[in-house]
Amino acid sequence: MSTWYRDIKTFKDENGYEIDGIWYPRVTAIVGIKAKPALYQFYAGLPDFATGEAIKAKSAEEGTLVHDTIEAILRKEPVVVPESIKPAISAFMKFYTSNDIVPHKIEERVISKNRHYAGTIDVLAEINGVLGVLDVKTSIAVYRDYSIQTSAYIEALREDPNIPPLSRWILRVNQLKKCLKCPATFRDKGGREKIRGEKFQCDHEWGPMQGEYEFKELTTFNEDIKAFLACKDLWEWENAYWLKKVY
Ligand SMILES: [Zn+2]
Repeated sequence: MSTWYRDIKTFKDENGYEIDGIWYPRVTAIVGIKAKPALYQFYAGLPDFATGEAIKAKSAEEGTLVHDTIEAILRKEPVVVPESIKPAISAFMKFYTSNDIVPHKIEERVISKNRHYAGTIDVLAEINGVLGVLDVKTSIAVYRDYSIQTSAYIEALREDPNIPPLSRWILRVNQLKKCLKCPATFRDKGGREKIRGEKFQCDHEWGPMQGEYEFKELTTFNEDIKAFLACKDLWEWENAYWLKKVY
């Protein structure tokens, strides 16, 4: 989010990867140029900016823990699931055991030499016989921004002429408590307690923390990659000062 950097090294570290001596901007840094109205709402509901940063950091930490655990399971490594994310992981296991999933690559760097950017895919896998990129999210919804991010991975992978057509999916895993008396849900990711879906006055009685998953195919590649490249143009404009020093 910040556009001010101490020096060129900081800029490069925060925005990209050095691969074989060439620096590439990172997909997530590029997509980050897009305004996220929901994020302003999030900050507006907090006492100060630092609180928001702390919640985001804690929340990212939880997200990383879920990612690492899922990736270990996919690699068939022995894994001890931390107590704090057991519901989310059991939701993942429900998905994992009820579909035929053959991972080809996990946490792998992809590079677009034509468009000059790089990123890291969560999983390249065959799911029920179809090859595609699977991105794991721990959010409360599948946001449209995910379409932009994942289209960039597909575009990069497609530069390999031997790669077959690829599907794109989001697997969203989350954990929350449901009210036993009304449709409301309670979630405390990142230490922030958030109640959603309150339909009427209720003296909520929260049930146990439970996992949920949502598996969604993204199908609008042409629109999405156009949006990504627009983000990239804008990101390059915003960072012209630094990029002139990089390239
Ligand atoms: Zn309730």
